[in-house]
Amino acid sequence: MNLNGKVALVTGSSRGIGHAIAKRFLSAGARVVMTSRHLDEVKAAAAELGSETDVIGLKMDVIDEAQVKAGVADTISIFGGVDILVSNAGIQIVHPVEEFPFEQWKKLLAVHLDGAFLTTQACLPHMYAKGAGSIIYMGSVHSHEASKLKAAYVTAKHGLIGLARTVSKEGGPKGVRANVVSPGFVRTALVEKQIPEQAKDLGISERDVIDKVMLGQTVDQQFTTLEDVAEITLMFAAFPTNALTGQSLIVSHGWHMS
Ligand code: NAD
Repeated sequence: MNLNGKVALVTGSSRGIGHAIAKRFLSAGARVVMTSRHLDEVKAAAAELGSETDVIGLKMDVIDEAQVKAGVADTISIFGGVDILVSNAGIQIVHPVEEFPFEQWKKLLAVHLDGAFLTTQACLPHMYAKGAGSIIYMGSVHSHEASKLKAAYVTAKHGLIGLARTVSKEGGPKGVRANVVSPGFVRTALVEKQIPEQAKDLGISERDVIDKVMLGQTVDQQFTTLEDVAEITLMFAAFPTNALTGQSLIVSHGWHMS
């Protein structure tokens, strides 16, 4: 599977899963636009991965429509098109439902759902004009399964499957595919932050959060790795036909099987 000649835009890619995807796509031959809310951070991350002829960093807050439109326009003017969108930017906020502050609920839904919608809407016309494109949403096991304290995240991640299925139906006749990658726990900043938070809210030790809550239902007590997720994302990006569209692929050491 290679991405020779393709241009990929990866949101939230200055670190974590998005960064690993940008790196893997570059090694597969793509030119990559990395985006983040923080320009200095994403420019430095891009410079570490390669030269400006292959990879650039752009500022893009995915809930700001003007920034999304400008970022996609810059991608087109710099690299001449956009073949692959990875809507990856995400946050996590944990509270029991009855204590979930409404502002935080709205913020989480906006980053995941508005971000996916706005980036999709900005990229689609360019993909339709070319008659080809692949859109990949970063879902989660929580696109299929619920956990305590994660009402907003579970709701948002389930929602991405609905968006992917709709985009795959609208985009199919125009050569555009949409799929979801649904990882189990990957040890990034997003997960490190929730270990003490969940320990406090659930009244258990941090060790138990890892062993019981995060890995308790895996087949081998292993975290999913950045490389695992990047490899599955590459498969969706490089797959050449509409045979693979509207799907969610769970990569979670067997935590959730469906
Ligand atoms: P991370 O915190 O390391 O990275 C998240 C990235 O999203 C960061 O670069 C952050 O700056 C960016 N971001 C947040 N809000 C943004 C906004 N408004 N606009 C632009 N960028 C924004 O976390 P991660 O674990 O790498 O998460 C990446 C994606 O993977 C998220 O969608 C997350 O829900 C999903 N995911 C993570 C795990 C896991 O266990 N780490 C599991 C399943 C799914």
